[in-house]
Amino acid sequence: MADSNKKVRARRNFTRKELVQMAVKFGATAAKVVSPKMVKTGPWVAWKCQFGCGSFGSSLVCPPHTPAPSKTRRMLDEYKVAVLFECRDGKTKRVAAMMERELFLAGCFKAFGFGSGPCELCEVCAFDKGCRHPHQARPAMEACGVDVFSTARRNGFKIEVVRSPCDRQHYFGLVLVK
Ligand code: SF4
Repeated sequence: MADSNKKVRARRNFTRKELVQMAVKFGATAAKVVSPKMVKTGPWVAWKCQFGCGSFGSSLVCPPHTPAPSKTRRMLDEYKVAVLFECRDGKTKRVAAMMERELFLAGCFKAFGFGSGPCELCEVCAFDKGCRHPHQARPAMEACGVDVFSTARRNGFKIEVVRSPCDRQHYFGLVLVK
């Protein structure tokens, strides 16, 4: 009797090159495979969100609805492989959600993506009714307490403080693979 139904599809092992290519395929301008240990978190990040960001509390994927930095640290420490990527515009959340889906379908059941900035999927967040786009709405790294400046720099990306409207903006995303 054919036992194909009983077969459990094994998790695909992606090479570093394939992970980078996947990020680029979905719209990243640059990507690197990094250790989640090299993703820096800090309590100060939550303070910068709360005092200084006009989008604080604007959606279910922004603070105070997102995990605290200490919780994010514990979550990051459950992974061994991540992809840090940069986009030229703010489409990091889209790239993160698409990578997460592709990895999940390939058997990487723990895959999880982070983007940057506030949620732009709805004009007004549904809040108590629950997210209208749970498969696309992903939190920003900074919304969960990731120190994006230090994380980008320690993994070889260039990032500077934006001092004027002419300065280049930097948008980073992160996908935890396994
Ligand atoms: S997708 Fe819509 S409902 Fe979901 S977090 Fe974003 S704004 Fe809120």
